[in-house]
Amino acid sequence: MDNSESPKRYVSAVAQTCTQHGEYVSMLIHGTWSNCVACDLAAENAAMAGEREAWRKELSARAWNAKLGRAAIPPRFADKHLGNYDPLCAEAEQALLIAKRYAASFPAVRKAGTCLIFVGDVGTGKTHLAVGIAHQVLEQGGQAIFASVRSAVGSIKETWERTSTKKEAQALRDLVEPDLLILDEVGVQFGSDTEKLILFDIINGRYEATRPTIVISNLAVAELEGYLGARAFDRLREGGGRLVVCNWESYRARRAA
Ligand SMILES: [Zn+2]
Repeated sequence: MDNSESPKRYVSAVAQTCTQHGEYVSMLIHGTWSNCVACDLAAENAAMAGEREAWRKELSARAWNAKLGRAAIPPRFADKHLGNYDPLCAEAEQALLIAKRYAASFPAVRKAGTCLIFVGDVGTGKTHLAVGIAHQVLEQGGQAIFASVRSAVGSIKETWERTSTKKEAQALRDLVEPDLLILDEVGVQFGSDTEKLILFDIINGRYEATRPTIVISNLAVAELEGYLGARAFDRLREGGGRLVVCNWESYRARRAA
């Protein structure tokens, strides 16, 4: 009888002492003396815990990237935070303070659906402030979404095409559900009645769901009210929605000077 396949031929055992776990039996297996089983198990558990932690980190990075991707903040505003907004005058300082307070009290803002309107000249940093708020909402774990009126209205109109796989109601929900929606460039386009109706649906939808909206516009206050219509404008002002008028000298003009 051939016993060459029997492991017994290769095994011998010796009593050993582990400094941590006390006595154990070490066996010679394929030319290697086995370690303390408790130590091996601990090492295996540590390796598994490390892998679980790495996996958890990867999933959380993926979720963060997905959230950031959904936020759709334009690349040129990607690094605009409230912390790196440089107020050039007392009015800008005041606007920054309002933005900081809005972001810091976002749990209450979100609950009440309190809106914010930034109006004023091009190049005063309105979008920087709004994006800075969005970054803080994202960091808090909320979902903020940035959209120009053109793209927001466009996402609804797209669903009217016969080839569209998305329903209009879903496209509207995508704009109504996020914790914060920033609507940029309000009033840049002339705006057909259809576009104004869609814009009203978005603002009103968020109002009814008590979701806060930040509106950014280069129009003067009266012009913006005329553009949005009194009803939508009232929705934005209701419940303490603040109007921040940014009419100081343009940042770009100053930098150029
Ligand atoms: Zn041990």
